[in-house]
Amino acid sequence: NAKKNGKNGFSFFDPKLQEEIIEKAKLTDRIRHSIEHKEFSLYYQAQYSLEEEKKIIGLEALVRWIHPTKGVISPSSFIPVAEESGLIIKLGNWILEEAVKQLKSWENEQSKKNWRLSVNVSIRQFETDVFIQTLKAILDTYNINPKLLRLELTENLLIGNIDRALEKIFQLKNMGISISIDDFGTGYSSLAYLKALPIDELKIDQSFICDIVNNKNDEIITQTIISIGQKFGLDIIAEGVETQEQVTKLMMMGCNYFQGYFLHKPAKAELF
Ligand code: C2E
Ligand code: MG
Ligand code: MG
Ligand code: MG
Repeated sequence: NAKKNGKNGFSFFDPKLQEEIIEKAKLTDRIRHSIEHKEFSLYYQAQYSLEEEKKIIGLEALVRWIHPTKGVISPSSFIPVAEESGLIIKLGNWILEEAVKQLKSWENEQSKKNWRLSVNVSIRQFETDVFIQTLKAILDTYNINPKLLRLELTENLLIGNIDRALEKIFQLKNMGISISIDDFGTGYSSLAYLKALPIDELKIDQSFICDIVNNKNDEIITQTIISIGQKFGLDIIAEGVETQEQVTKLMMMGCNYFQGYFLHKPAKAELF
């Protein structure tokens, strides 16, 4: 292709871009295949209250791809591709069902029956017309207490159709499910939604937590999030807690719950 450079010197055929597109298509195919062959698995990371004693109040389900040759693959390398291709809907349904199944099995154990399970839901899945219906069907099948299920959504769900999102959140609340806003403070939305949304928890993003001991700005942001959450009567959980110093600081600031490698690393359900 002799004329591949247009008149502005702009190349219409970019071999690097071409390669990226092919790689993405391959990955999409592999994800599709792996959903069908059930090569995904849920790990669980405990969330703690540290008031009088260290106590598990709940867990977060975190998906892993158990690749036959590459081993355990983390979600950041496949969730975005699954979202782009729409496969997240099928994968997300599997995740929801698997999480609810796990809740059901914990319900039968005295020490675990009050554990709440938080499940990340991609906005792409949340937006589908059948989301509520699908979730209802799963809850009916396993007959668990919906109060034990918490959905983690991100602020960006309000970018699109706000009324529709609001309506869905009210429906979820009516079903007894609780709502957490994940990565709080990093999305594209305004604080105004806090007064309109019946949410239960703010999850402080780990990017504010990692330097909280040394960085004044992170401390100010975190303190502000905690104050807002307290005034609205919400649970406040810090994610990505890696040191005792962070825990001490966050406790002094009024944070209720803690999640991070310092306390517990995501693990298979059998290890609890
Ligand atoms: P997220 O929901 O904000 O999850 C927190 C991430 O931080 C998890 O990464 C967790 O393993 C990691 N983490 C926990 N404690 C620490 C810590 O002390 N230090 C550090 N540096 N990291 C910590 P993971 O499991 O790789 O998940 C990454 C993201 O992928 C999640 O962020 C979430 O957005 C998405 N994701 C994970 N599981 C699911 C899922 O089942 N469905 C959907 N739609 N998205 C998921
Ligand atoms: Mg999360
Ligand atoms: Mg998060
Ligand atoms: Mg995050």
